[in-house]
Amino acid sequence: MIIAIDGTVSSGKSTAAKNVARELGLLYINTGLMYRAVTAYCLKCGVDTKDKEKVAALANELRIDLVSEPDGQHALANGEDLTAECKGPLVSEAVSDIADNVKVRERLVAEQRRLGLEARPGAVMEGRDIGSVVFPDADIKFFVTAPPEVRAHRRYLEFKENGKNVPEEEVLRSVLERDKRDRERPVGALIKLPEAIPLDTGDLTREEVTAKIVEHVKKYESGS
Ligand code: C5P
Repeated sequence: MIIAIDGTVSSGKSTAAKNVARELGLLYINTGLMYRAVTAYCLKCGVDTKDKEKVAALANELRIDLVSEPDGQHALANGEDLTAECKGPLVSEAVSDIADNVKVRERLVAEQRRLGLEARPGAVMEGRDIGSVVFPDADIKFFVTAPPEVRAHRRYLEFKENGKNVPEEEVLRSVLERDKRDRERPVGALIKLPEAIPLDTGDLTREEVTAKIVEHVKKYESGS
């Protein structure tokens, strides 16, 4: 079984996907982390993330493994754990260059398909293009979002918790910019597919989002 969860930045889709996978005994696959791992590896090797050909060549040679640890999913690039770098500001700034690179996308999409097909009894895959490109035949698809102001506020609080005081207006600007980039990407753009179940997490707790997704999946499994 493949559950595709696509959605906007800071919509709560990662937490929901992780929890749904745990509850249903499926493999959790965070595809954004794969784009981040390629970015972190480029930065480590001193490759300009805007140099499409060089980045594509490097991505072709690169083996990325996602490993589930108690503190969340880790990304290994050629065996080296780059999870901390993946979450850092340098990678966050450059990752769109990598996600816009058509050849990198081809490589990662193929890898994501392999991971999903090998997963027994299935996987919860989270990203932007899972339902549209990676698994157009996914058993069930979700489109998760929330109003930009709510998502910006969540990120603002996260930054604050980590000791970073970024003005909320600035966080909102960056959320809107990332939305635009996600929606306007020539390949693998974020779109709301007609068959995807929409979930607005604006007024929901994390637990409620997970429960709603699990409820839909159970309904789908029972054929009702
Ligand atoms: O979800 P996250 O912010 O970690 O994703 C990192 C980057 O990878 C973002 O720029 C996002 O747009 C991109 N991405 C993508 N396709 C996916 C998952 C993430 O283009 N399936």
